[in-house]
Amino acid sequence: MVLAEHVSKSFGSNEVLKDISLEVRRGEVLCLVGPSGSGKSTFLRCINHLEQVSSGRLSVDGSVVGYREVGDKLYEMHPKDAAKQRRDIGMVFQRFNLFPHMTALENVMEAPTQVKGVSRSKAKARAHELLARVGLAERADYYPAHLSGGQQQRVAIARALAMDPKLMLFDEPTSALDPELVGEVLDVMKELAKTGMTMIVVTHEMGFAREVADTLVFMDGGVVVETGDPREVLANPQHARTQAFLSKVL
Ligand code: ATP
Ligand code: MG
Repeated sequence: MVLAEHVSKSFGSNEVLKDISLEVRRGEVLCLVGPSGSGKSTFLRCINHLEQVSSGRLSVDGSVVGYREVGDKLYEMHPKDAAKQRRDIGMVFQRFNLFPHMTALENVMEAPTQVKGVSRSKAKARAHELLARVGLAERADYYPAHLSGGQQQRVAIARALAMDPKLMLFDEPTSALDPELVGEVLDVMKELAKTGMTMIVVTHEMGFAREVADTLVFMDGGVVVETGDPREVLANPQHARTQAFLSKVL
């Protein structure tokens, strides 16, 4: 589903991703961990083309992100096609980013009706279904300001799912939450993984990684330092940098 081959990304002279190669197969969950500034968010942003890779090849579901491939040549995608490509990728950020002037239900209905042209009645039924799935059936008519952080983040997940994404990207979805609210969001993500959703999750929640991820990737300084089965990497990290990082977060 996601294939990165020798992906590098620079901001000016600052190379923040260096020769990243990895693969996430359909239905797999990959957890990406690493210290601040190691390039985790930049990598996610490249996957949904909020940033453009500087070199290498990055593809989602067989098509190169942001480019049209003709033979062995790449042509920049028309912005319309790039937007279409991005629609298939759901993203959930650290900050909930809900529309504050809309109820939970309206937040979830917004993209399907505005971007995909789904009828309001259909979008509404689906939004109710999705809110129920994240445990918020009773909160459909609440505004974000009247929801807890954990509830807001669950609405954000429902909102992303409303576009029927092929792939979900999570960038530290629980790190802005009070500790007692982390579990309810991780539970929703666990359920989502069980349905077979392909997911890349940047997180410091090692319990989640151990239980849910198929692969754990440790990144440092823009480089993939170590990758493998999360249970093995966590129990027996091979690299000094991984060991040092894990000793701080575990
Ligand atoms: P954190 O754990 O703090 O979220 P991260 O691993 O997500 O860190 P990134 O946000 O990807 O790290 O940042 C990696 C490097 O890229 C940092 O040095 C950052 O300053 C730089 N960077 C990120 N975005 C930009 C940008 N738009 N312009 C210039 N530099 C950037
Ligand atoms: Mg980040």
